[in-house]
Amino acid sequence: MQKLKIVADYVPSYKYLNVCLKDGNNCGRFEKCVRTMTGLDALGKLDYYREVFDVDYYNSHKTWYMKKMLKRIARKKHDYFEIYAFKRKDMTVSLYIYKEIYNIFYSFRNIAGKPTIINFVKHLIRR
Ligand SMILES: [Zn+2]
Repeated sequence: MQKLKIVADYVPSYKYLNVCLKDGNNCGRFEKCVRTMTGLDALGKLDYYREVFDVDYYNSHKTWYMKKMLKRIARKKHDYFEIYAFKRKDMTVSLYIYKEIYNIFYSFRNIAGKPTIINFVKHLIRR
């Protein structure tokens, strides 16, 4: 967020900011665009970026962007923790439920995927 604040204070970025990994304009759909748009929105600066981002699309699909953020948080992507602190005011009951479901899903996946199981199998094979 600190980096983004510096960018958002630099006026030429309103016209030239390009974060997308795809060629051409910012797609507004993949991770880098989603993170930047959500971050700029959290800073109250997204409206200045109408030339480089589809701000109207963002505004009419805010729930989708919130869900993307919550999913990344469940996967412990720390960039989003900071954004979330600003976006907490936009949380609804259904988004809280969504967040909890993903937290449970990913923590279960982490436990199930731990190398202990692999080690256990290796142990069985060695015997
Ligand atoms: Zn993109």
